[in-house]
Parts: sequence; structure tokens; C-alpha cells
Amino acid sequence: MENLGSRLAEYLNSKNLTEDYRRLLNDALNDSDVQKFLKENSDRINPNAISTSAASIYEFYNNKRHTSELTRGYYPKLIVNNHNIEVAYYPNERTQNREKRSQYESSFVLMDMAPDIRRAKLDDYDGEGRQDALGKALDFIDNYLHQDGFTPGLYLAGDFGVGKTYLLGAIANELFKHDVHTTLMHFPTFAVEMKDSIGQNNVLAKVNKIKGADILMLDDIGADTMSSWIRDEVLGVILQYRMQENLPTFFSSNFSMKELEQHLAVNQRGEEEPVKAKRIMERVKYLSREVIVTGENRRFKK
Ligand code: ADP
Ligand code: MG
Repeated sequence: MENLGSRLAEYLNSKNLTEDYRRLLNDALNDSDVQKFLKENSDRINPNAISTSAASIYEFYNNKRHTSELTRGYYPKLIVNNHNIEVAYYPNERTQNREKRSQYESSFVLMDMAPDIRRAKLDDYDGEGRQDALGKALDFIDNYLHQDGFTPGLYLAGDFGVGKTYLLGAIANELFKHDVHTTLMHFPTFAVEMKDSIGQNNVLAKVNKIKGADILMLDDIGADTMSSWIRDEVLGVILQYRMQENLPTFFSSNFSMKELEQHLAVNQRGEEEPVKAKRIMERVKYLSREVIVTGENRRFKK
């Protein structure tokens, strides 16, 4: 420590440094964090690398006192790397939280979901009419995590307010604990977004991103009348891909599978297209198993 400290002091005097820089370096050397670091690491630092070390100590001291545009959200720390002193930057608590959040949000996409759905937990999911759905949800998670081969998702059919979306959110949250990333989206909202994307030419990019999700959940399918384009070119393409790749897919709907088929058979213009509807339903049936959810309407309970 003496050795390194005095070598640094020597360096300060010997070099043709401006007065200001010399003074700042001196202050930096006397900083308590710097002193502590030098004391603890002196035997690991190469005393011949004084000039680079001095520059690092100066940088550390400067950034410790004033954050710049570049280092905002991070704090500097002196480290020994390959016998030299270097400055490393670590995210501060706020940045850490933000990074965690954005990691969470980008890996676990709950598009347009209300906060209660984002916080949904399987532990809170109970009540009459829902036991079957809960049991199948738990089976799915268990099979998906522990068995090889394809695990079909669930098709939750039931009236408005019985907790279908809530259960999807709870499954996604549970899977997330096991590092499985789910994309849960409100299908009618997604359909509108896709229509808007036509003009921007990025329909394909969006479809491609969604079709490959580890687990995909299409919430409220059939809530709107679909155009043939959404049904065949968007939904059909997504489901076809997921079927080929054996990727589990969940649905929720106010319709049973049978009712959904009838719904899909009539397009927005009122034209009947039963064959197209059947093709979609074949994929839905391959990808998921129907579960009827009953029970009270939870929306008016609060
Ligand atoms: P659905 O999708 O079937 O129409 P939701 O999942 O939106 O129904 O549920 C309706 C309301 O009840 C939501 O506000 C939701 O947060 C709430 N809810 C559903 N299940 C539960 C539960 N197990 N615990 C607490 N709130 C719930
Ligand atoms: Mg819902």
C-alpha cells in the first residue's frame, strides 16, 4: 500500500500535469473509498501501471461525485483487473429495478392486461365452478415442465366475468417462476392493431414475433366479428405455425368450441365460409383442450 500510494504521489509530481489536474488527482488519492481500496488490494496491483491506475482513480473519483449523462443510473467502483486498477460501473437500485422490470415485461408479455390480471395468482383462484379449470391448469403446468412431448393448452369457455382471463394471467405468472415466458394478449385488441399495421407494412414482423412465443394465450377470441383476413392470414397463420412446432396455445372465449366454429363461419361482411372456420377450429382443437368455466360473475363482486 505504501509502495503504491507513494508511487502514485511520485507520479503526480513528476509528470507535467496542469495544476488543476494535479490537485484533483491528489484529492482523489485522499478519498476514503480510494484509500480503502488501495489498502485492501495493494498486493494485487502492479505498481508499474501507475499512470493508467491514476487515470482510473481520477475517473472513479470524478464519477463518484458527479454523475454524467453517460453514467447516470450507475455507480462507479474500483476493481482490480489483470493487476491494473479499473473502474467498473454497476446499476444503482433504481436502475436495477428498471432493468428487472423491463426484462420482466419483455419476456412476459401481457399485452393490454389490467393490473389485477398482471398480479393474478393460482393460489387465489378458487370457488365453485372453477375447480375443473384450476385442476387442468395445474396439470398443464406440471406436464409442460416435467414431460417431454407436446402439452396442449386450455380453451377456457365460459360466461363473461367468471375469471377466465384471471386464470390465464395466473398460469402465466406461475410459469414465469420457472423461466417460461408467456405472451398473453387480448385477441380483439390485437386484431385492431394488426389492421393498423397494414399501412405500416409490419404485419408480418408482428405475426412472426407472436407465433413463436413459448406459450401463447389468446384472450377473448370470438368477442368481435373477424374479417376473413384476420381469421385466415393472421389467426390461421399463427395457429398453423404453432401446430407445426408443437407450441402450447391457450384460448379464452365466451363461446364454446362449437359456438366459436359457427361464429367464425360468418365473416364481417356476413358471408358464410364454413370450410375456413373448420380449418381454424381443427388447429384450435389440436392446440388446446376445452374446459367449461362456470361460477359467479366476479366483476360485480367488488
Ligand atoms: P372473464 O375473463 O371470464 O370475463 P375475468 O378474469 O376478467 O373474467 O374476471 C373478472 C373479474 O374478477 C376481474 O376483475 C378479476 O380480476 C376478478 N377475479 C377473477 N378471478 C379472481 C380470483 N380468483 N380472485 C380475485 N379476483 C378474481
Ligand atoms: Mg376475459
